[in-house]
Amino acid sequence: MDLATSLQYVKGIGPARANMLAAKGLFTVADLLYYAPFRYEDRTNIKAIRELAPGEKAVAMAQVHSAKLSGFRRRALGLFEAIFQDGSGASMLARWFHGERYAESLVPGTRVALFGKVELDRGSGQRLMVQPEIEILSDEQGEEEALHTGRIVAVYEAAGKISTRVFRSLIDRVLKQVALPEDALPESVRERVKLPDLAAAIRYVHSPPSDADLRLLNDFRSPAQVRLIFDEFFWLECGLALKKTNARLAPGISFSVTERAREQIKRMLPFKPTPAQRRVMQEIADDMKRPHPMNRLLQGDVGSGKTIVAAQAAVLAMENAYQVAVLAPTEILATQHYAYFKRLLEKLGYVVVLLTGSASAREKQQIKKLISEGLVHVAVGTHALIQEDVTFHRLGLAIVDEQHRFGVRQRLELMRKGEQPDVLVMTATPIPRTLALTLYGDLDVSVIDELPPGRKPIITKHVPGSSVERVYSFVAQEIKAGRQAYVVYPLVEESETTAAKAAEKMYQHLSEEVFPDIPVGLLHGKLSAEDKETAMQAFKSGESKILVSTTVIEVGVDVPNASVMVVEEAERFGLAQIHQLRGRVGRGAHQSYCILVTGKLNDISRQRIRTLVESIDGFYIAEMDMKLRGPGEFFGTKQSGIPGLRLADLIRDTEVLERARDEAQRLIESKDDNELRAAVRYIQEHWQRRYGFVQVG
Ligand code: ADP
Ligand code: MG
Repeated sequence: MDLATSLQYVKGIGPARANMLAAKGLFTVADLLYYAPFRYEDRTNIKAIRELAPGEKAVAMAQVHSAKLSGFRRRALGLFEAIFQDGSGASMLARWFHGERYAESLVPGTRVALFGKVELDRGSGQRLMVQPEIEILSDEQGEEEALHTGRIVAVYEAAGKISTRVFRSLIDRVLKQVALPEDALPESVRERVKLPDLAAAIRYVHSPPSDADLRLLNDFRSPAQVRLIFDEFFWLECGLALKKTNARLAPGISFSVTERAREQIKRMLPFKPTPAQRRVMQEIADDMKRPHPMNRLLQGDVGSGKTIVAAQAAVLAMENAYQVAVLAPTEILATQHYAYFKRLLEKLGYVVVLLTGSASAREKQQIKKLISEGLVHVAVGTHALIQEDVTFHRLGLAIVDEQHRFGVRQRLELMRKGEQPDVLVMTATPIPRTLALTLYGDLDVSVIDELPPGRKPIITKHVPGSSVERVYSFVAQEIKAGRQAYVVYPLVEESETTAAKAAEKMYQHLSEEVFPDIPVGLLHGKLSAEDKETAMQAFKSGESKILVSTTVIEVGVDVPNASVMVVEEAERFGLAQIHQLRGRVGRGAHQSYCILVTGKLNDISRQRIRTLVESIDGFYIAEMDMKLRGPGEFFGTKQSGIPGLRLADLIRDTEVLERARDEAQRLIESKDDNELRAAVRYIQEHWQRRYGFVQVG
């Protein structure tokens, strides 16, 4: 048996258990060794029943003497009680509420280990444990019992029918038989971080010594656990850093910042850029000058003005006789970008086109032809832009807006349309720093950290659904004052149709009953492109005053006169999503409002709503969102966090992550080729399967 041995060949596993393990992502012996416990129990205090003192926590090993399940008809809570004896002369009562599941297993004669706090039963005066942890000790396991009691035991998440007890036995067997992995952490790193050796850490994590610090273990802070967590982060960060370095050293386009380019940019700008915009523009220009491809993430809160920065980069590329592609996630946003770029760039003599799925076949044909012949300078589009039959004459800069809506694959597809073009991806979803370091670890990051001047902070209020009339009269009042409003309905990811229906129904209700005298528009994903465009135009021009919509307006929509954003059933949205929606108002000089209408709230949703009411800082909100929902949920179904991380937790282990990242950076930048080569090999052999997206070399 070695680390690569497939688990089904390990004694005690076999095909059925191997399948259950595979469902947990465990295929090899090495996987099993890295399957770390999520909790530890102190079972060192084994006592005979007659020695158990009330108030203490202890383990008793005893036999079921008698047992009964009492309950009141079917729905009553099943109270399961059993009396245990251990030959010490005393007996103990144990009691479980909702204990139906014990009725079958705890029959008289069964031997168990009970772990819990000892009390005295008022009725009988006997010793009592309420809801103790138990483990059934089957007879043939006499000698193995030492593994499960009398020590600090590891508790594993079950896999199918494989219980924590079975895991403990399997892992114990493997630990005894297999040569543990050699420590691949470079010597220099090991010296600095001062963490235990890998093999020692693996042993400790599965079977800690009796004098181990239980609290540290349960907080995932014991040096052995930190070592394994460090490994997960370190190799991930190395992989990302390598990928980034390789990409940065590839040959690419060296754009030159000519005097004419400067002039054109000056002529284009409709307003004075903020210092933050100027700073990131400089970063981007410097990067574009390098003879290597740019891979840059432009991050900035909603409304911080990323588009104009992208437009400046576009001018730079076009002044070097290259084409620019702008990819947007929705038709609405693509259309809006098209209008924006056209307005800014056409007067400078550049040709801008729009390519989306809803154009007629003939139109598409024509546009594609223009693009491939190089008669177009900027092509704005949706997914249609990355279709195979779209070819560019000379693509030099690829811009991806709202990057979080796309996968890594789309970015690559767009890049393939040119020869090592520079890439600028933009996102308004502020990503918690820890996530950015991992998800976007292969990108350079520029941050716009200030809003354009004159913006009044948006006032956010929470209103219970029962008082929605108040919200409507406020909306009417704002409209009377010349403003406009959005009313948004939740879109459940899997059912755009349902959301569209809800929006349609609400549209009817609002336009006919609540606001019969006010023009109301409707916008949702199921409308034809033409209807969407019409609805958007009507709202933009001020013809319609209220826009009832689903989250299709979440990204990018820019109507400065809109001052109220009403979000219905706000508890069903993610925080980052509401923050994006809120960013649709407060874009002009008027005081703007975001009103969150909710149903009944539980504790977590109350806390989430409060976060939004109290803060307009996108980064803070993103951190809270990730804390409250976990990193997987944070990105919705499309990008479910970092799939390869097992023991490591992006929220709990931020500090370890930062350390691992620094060390990874150091290693990659070091001149020690041997260590570097060894690292690359190790990542390819051991981590590529887990971190599929890291692709080293
Ligand atoms: P986002 O970063 O969310 O994409 P946009 O690029 O859509 O933001 O910009 C939001 C609004 O702010 C737009 O109407 C834009 O014209 C305006 N804007 C951007 N930068 C400035 C600035 N420096 N001064 C004034 N208005 C600006
Ligand atoms: Mg934008």
